[in-house]
Amino acid sequence: TEGFLALQEGAGALNAVVHATPEIARAQAEAADARLAEGAAPDLCGIPLGIKDLFCTKGVPSQAASRILEGFKPEYESTVTSQLFADGAVMLGKLNMDEFAMGSSNETSTYGPVVNPWRKNRDLTAGGSSGGSAAAVAAGLCLGATGTDTGGSIRQPASFTGITGIKPTYGRISRWGIIAFASSLDQAGPMTRDVRDAAIMLRAMCGADPKDSTSADLPVPDFEAALTGDIRGKVIGIPREYRMDGMPEEIEALWAEGRRMLQEAGAEVRDISLPHTKYALPAYYVIAPAEASSNLARYDGVRFGRRAALGQGEDITAMYEKTRAEGFGAEVQRRVMVGTYVLSAGFYDAYYNKARKVRTLIKRDFEQVFADGVDAILTPTAPSAAFGLGDMADADPVQMYLNDVFTVTVNLAGLPGISVPAGLDRQGLPLGLQLIGKPWEEAELLDTAYSLE
Ligand code: GLN
Repeated sequence: TEGFLALQEGAGALNAVVHATPEIARAQAEAADARLAEGAAPDLCGIPLGIKDLFCTKGVPSQAASRILEGFKPEYESTVTSQLFADGAVMLGKLNMDEFAMGSSNETSTYGPVVNPWRKNRDLTAGGSSGGSAAAVAAGLCLGATGTDTGGSIRQPASFTGITGIKPTYGRISRWGIIAFASSLDQAGPMTRDVRDAAIMLRAMCGADPKDSTSADLPVPDFEAALTGDIRGKVIGIPREYRMDGMPEEIEALWAEGRRMLQEAGAEVRDISLPHTKYALPAYYVIAPAEASSNLARYDGVRFGRRAALGQGEDITAMYEKTRAEGFGAEVQRRVMVGTYVLSAGFYDAYYNKARKVRTLIKRDFEQVFADGVDAILTPTAPSAAFGLGDMADADPVQMYLNDVFTVTVNLAGLPGISVPAGLDRQGLPLGLQLIGKPWEEAELLDTAYSLE
C-alpha cells in the first residue's frame, strides 16, 4: 500500500504512470498476504511492480502509449504478466513509454514525456522506450518493472536512470500478448534496482510458451542461485569498434574503470574485434521499420481502438487513412513509411535483403569471438548520460537513432545484454556499462554483472 501511495504521488511529477490499477493491486496484495500466511510464498509474493504499457493486461487499458489504441482493453493477459501474477507479484499500474516502443527518450508517447528522477537544473529524459519503467524503479515507486527491448529500450533507460536492466536471449521470454514492434528483435526483460532483483524477476518471466513459437523450450535456471560474484578465469572482451570518434571522455573513463574492476576480480580482459559493428545501426533502422510497418498494418480503425470520425460520403479508404493519420504520431508514421519503402518491390533487395545479410555478418562476428574463448563483452551502454527533454526536438531524427549505437547489435544477434549502473558523470548523472553474453547464458551474464556492482 505504501508503494502504491508513493506511486500515485510520484506519478504527477515524473509522468511515469499512465494508468494506476489500485483495485487490482489491492486484490493481488490480499491474495499475496493469504499465500504468505500459508507459508507457501513464491519469489515475487507481494512485490509491487509496474508494467510497461506495451503489455496487454486483461481489462486494463493497454495502449502502447499510442492514440490509435485509445479505449483498447484487452480480453486477455500477456504471458509475461500472467506468469508474474502467478508468482505473487502486485501490479500497481501501467507505465509510460515511447509510442509503440519507438524512440530513445520517451518523447514520442501520446501521454507526454517521462521526467528522469535524476533532475538537475532542468528536466532530463529517462531514456526510451521503457522510460516510464526506468523512472518508476529509479524513484522507488515500485520494486521492479517490465520493459521491452528491440534495440536498447531496456538497457539505455536503465543507464540513464542508474538502475539495472537485462534483455535476455531472443526466445527466452514469450512475446505473446506484448504489442509487437519488430517481431524478430523484440524481447521483454526486467528493470530493477540491482542484479539480484533482476535475477529473481527474470526467472518469473522466462519459459517456453505454446502461444509463441519463437519461445525456446529450455529449462529456466535459478538465476539468483547463480550469483557467486566469482569471475576468476572468465574472459572479457573489449571490442575496439565500440571506441567511437568523439566519444565523451567520461564514457571512455567509465569503460576503463569497468575493465579494471573485472580484472581486479580475477577476469582476463582482452581486446577483441567485431568488424561489422559500423553497419549495425543502418541495418537495424531498415529491419525494425520494415517489421513495424507490417505489424502496425492491423491498426486500421476496424479491429482495435480508435476510429476517426468520417464526413458525409467518405468511404472506408478515407476511414483507414484518417484513422492512421490521426492515431499515429510523427515518429511512428516515419517508421511505417521507411518500412513500406524498404519492403517495396523495387527496393527490397537493395535495402531489406541487404540489411538481413548485414545482420548475419554481425551475428557471426559475435559467434567468432565466443568461439575464441570470450565469455562476455564489455561496452558502454549509451554514448552519453541522460540529455535534456526537448534537446533533440529540432535535430535530424538520425541524431536520436545514434543513441542506440551500442545496443542494437545485441538485438540483431539475438544475444543477452545487461546494463548496470557504473558511475556518475561530471554533472552527477548516472552512467551504465553493458555486458553482452553468450546465447542462453543469462545466469553467467548476471553473475559477471554482479561483480561490477
Ligand atoms: N531506440 C530504438 C528505436 O527507436 C530502440 C527501441 C526499442 O528497443 N524498443 O527503435
